[in-house]
Amino acid sequence: MSRIASVLIPMPLPEAFDYAEPEGMGLEAGDQVAVPLGPRLIRGVVTGLRDATGGNRPLKPVAERLDDPRLPPGTVEFVQWAARYAVDAPGQPLAIALRGARAPKPRPTRVVRATGVQPARPTPARAKVLAAATRAMAPAELARAAGVGAGVVKGLIDEGVLALDHVTPDARFDVPDLTRRGPDLSASQAAAAEAMTAGLGGFGVTLLDGVTGSGKTEVYLEAAAAALAADPDAQVLILLPEIALTQAVIARVTARFGAQPGEWHSDVAPPMRRKVWEGVAAGTCRIVVGARSALFLPFRRLKLIVVDEEHDGSFKQEDGFIYHARDLAVVRGRIEDAAVVLASATPSLESLRNAETGRYRWLKLAARHGTARLPDIELVDLRETPPEAGRWLSPPLVAAMGETWARGEQTLLFLNRRGYAPLVLCKACGERMTAPDTDSWLVEHRYTGRLVCHLTGFSMPKPAACPHCGAKDSLVSIGPGVERVEEEARALFPDARIAVFSSDTVFDAREARRLVETMAAGDIDILVATQAAAKGHNFPKLTLVGVVDADLGLRGGDLRAAERTYQLLAQATGRAGRADRAGRALLQTYAPEHAVMQALKAQDRDAFVAAEMAERELAGLPPFGRLAAVIASGPDAAQLDAFVREMAEVAPNTPGVEVYGPADAPLGLVRGRRRKRFLVRCDRGVDLSAYMAAWRARVKVRGQLRVAIDIDPYSFL
Ligand code: ADP
Repeated sequence: MSRIASVLIPMPLPEAFDYAEPEGMGLEAGDQVAVPLGPRLIRGVVTGLRDATGGNRPLKPVAERLDDPRLPPGTVEFVQWAARYAVDAPGQPLAIALRGARAPKPRPTRVVRATGVQPARPTPARAKVLAAATRAMAPAELARAAGVGAGVVKGLIDEGVLALDHVTPDARFDVPDLTRRGPDLSASQAAAAEAMTAGLGGFGVTLLDGVTGSGKTEVYLEAAAAALAADPDAQVLILLPEIALTQAVIARVTARFGAQPGEWHSDVAPPMRRKVWEGVAAGTCRIVVGARSALFLPFRRLKLIVVDEEHDGSFKQEDGFIYHARDLAVVRGRIEDAAVVLASATPSLESLRNAETGRYRWLKLAARHGTARLPDIELVDLRETPPEAGRWLSPPLVAAMGETWARGEQTLLFLNRRGYAPLVLCKACGERMTAPDTDSWLVEHRYTGRLVCHLTGFSMPKPAACPHCGAKDSLVSIGPGVERVEEEARALFPDARIAVFSSDTVFDAREARRLVETMAAGDIDILVATQAAAKGHNFPKLTLVGVVDADLGLRGGDLRAAERTYQLLAQATGRAGRADRAGRALLQTYAPEHAVMQALKAQDRDAFVAAEMAERELAGLPPFGRLAAVIASGPDAAQLDAFVREMAEVAPNTPGVEVYGPADAPLGLVRGRRRKRFLVRCDRGVDLSAYMAAWRARVKVRGQLRVAIDIDPYSFL
C-alpha cells in the first residue's frame, strides 16, 4: 500500500504538510527530503509516515530523498516540543536544527578500503594492492602506494574486494583520550563529581552550586569523562552563554581530553558548521562546546548536557524563535534520557527553587579551590566620595587602582555599557539624539566616531550641528560607557597597559581568545570591560575589581532587576583574587543601603535569595507562578489600538490565569512600528502554552500587524 509522509518545512508555517511517498522510496521518519512547495522544491524533514487509506485527495509526491543525515527521533521530538512550548510554528525550531545541514559542505573525496572479500582471480598486482590497503585512501593514492595502474584498483572495486566511499576530507573529529586524568580533586570536589557521575545513565537534573573559582568546571569535566568512558558512543554537550567563554572552555576541554571538541556558535564558519552538524549526527563528534543553539544539534546518543553559568540571561533567545536554552536543555535531557547539569555561582531563582523542592539534585562547593579566598567587597558611597566633575572613578577606587598597579597586579573596571556615552543631547535645545522611528537613545562610539542604536543597529556619523535646532558644537555626551572609562584610566595611569573588552572592540572568537590570553598572561594592567569579560574567566594576577556603576542594573526595575544585578556583580567581583592572591572589589553606588548592595558586601547570597523569594511568592511571580508576554506591533497606531482591544476581548477566561494590558510597551516605537504589550500571569499548574495557543487561535492577525508570544519572558521592554 502507498504511504503518506508528513513533512515539516523549516519555515514559519503552521504545521507539517502531507506528501505521497513515491513507490520504493522507503522513507523513514527523520529523513531529509526535497518536496514541492508552490513552484519550488524545498528541503524538509519527514516527521511521520502512515498508510494512505482510500479516497484521499491527490497529494504531490516527495521529489527526492536527500543524501544528508537523518535527524534522530529525539531531535525531531525536541523540535516539536519546543514549538508547542513557545507557541510558535514548528518550522522555526526546525530551521535552527537544520542550520548546519544547509551550510555549504567541504568538498567530499573518494576513498577505498578493503572489504575482506578475496579476489576471484588473484594476481601479483592485485596482491600488492591488498597489501597496501591498510587504511581508507583515495583510489589513485592506493594505486601509487601499491605501484600498480589505476585499472587494477578499479577492477577490485568492481569485484567488491575494495569498497568505494565518499568522505569529506576533514570530517573526522579527534577521539577523546579517556586515559588522561584531570587534576586531583579536593574532597568536596570529588564528592560532587562522584554524585554527578552516579546520576549519569538516565535523565535527572543536578544543580552544581559553587562559588566562583570553586572548581565547578573541573567537576563537570570529570562527569563528562565518566559519561564518555561508560559508553563508546556517548556524546556530551556543554553550553555557555558567551562566545568568549566558549573559547576558554574549549581550551580546557582540549587540554583535558587531548581532543578538540566540536565548536558551535554564530561565529563558526559555515563549512565547519556543516562538519560539526554531520559529526554530531554521525556520532563521531562526541563533545560539543557551544552557545544556546547547539541544543538543537542532531545528537545520536546524548548522555550529558552541562549548562554553565545557567543563570545567565544570554541563554534566552529574544527574537525569531523565542526560547530559553536552560529550560529547553532540561527538556532535551528528558527526551534523550540524558543527565543535565546546571552550574553557577549565582543560580537563578528558578533553579534554586527546583533544588529546594527536591526536583533537582543540589550539589554545593562552598569554598574556592586551594588557598584562594573570595575577595573583600567594599561599597563606595558616591554621595560621600564623588568623582571629580566629568569623571567617573571615585578617589577611593583611583587610590586602590594605584596600589594594585604598584604591586604589579591587575585591575578590572566593570561597566556594563558599550560605547563612549549612552546619551547625546543638545545643550542649546535639549534635544536627545534618538534613532529614526525608534524610542531608543543613540549611543556615542568614539572609536568609530558614530552614533549607534544598540537596538536596531542603525548608525550615523556624529553630526557637527544639532539636527533639531541647528546649533553648532552643541552636542554633549552624557554619562559613561567603557570607552570613556578607558579614556579616564589612560589619563590617570598614562604608563599602564590598558585594554577594552566589549562586543564592539572584540569582534570574533579569535580576538576574544587572544584578549583573554593576554589578560591571563598578565600583559594587561587595566581591563575595562562589559559583561563580555566579567564572567567565568580566571585571571591569576587580577586582584582588584572596580564596579563603575553598581546601580545601573537596578534602574528600570523589571521583575529580575535585583536578581540580575546581584548575579552580575557577584560574578564580576568574583574575578578578583584567584590563585592565592588576596582580592578586593569596590562597588561605586548611590544606594549603599539597597538590599542588593548589602548582600554583596556581606557576601550573603542566601539572605538575598530568601528575601527575593519571599517577595516573588507573595506576588505569585516566577518561580512561584509563570508569566507570558504578548507583543503586538504595527505601523499604524489606530489600527494597532483597535487590534489589541479586540485581542483583550477574546482572551480566554481560565481559572488561575490573569491577563494584564494592553499597555504601551516601554519601547513604544521600533523601526517605525508601534508596540503594545500584554502580560499574562498564571499559577504553576496551568498549561500556559496551551492557554496562549488557544488565545492566539481566536485572533485574526491582519495586514502588517504582528503578534509575538514570549513564554517565560526575561525582557519587559
Ligand atoms: P569555577 O568553574 O567554579 O569558577 P574552575 O573549575 O574554573 O572553577 O576552577 C578555578 C581555578 O582553580 C581553575 O584555574 C582551575 O584549574 C583550578 N582548580 C580547581 N580545582 C582544582 C584542583 N582540584 N586541582 C588543581 N586546580 C584546580
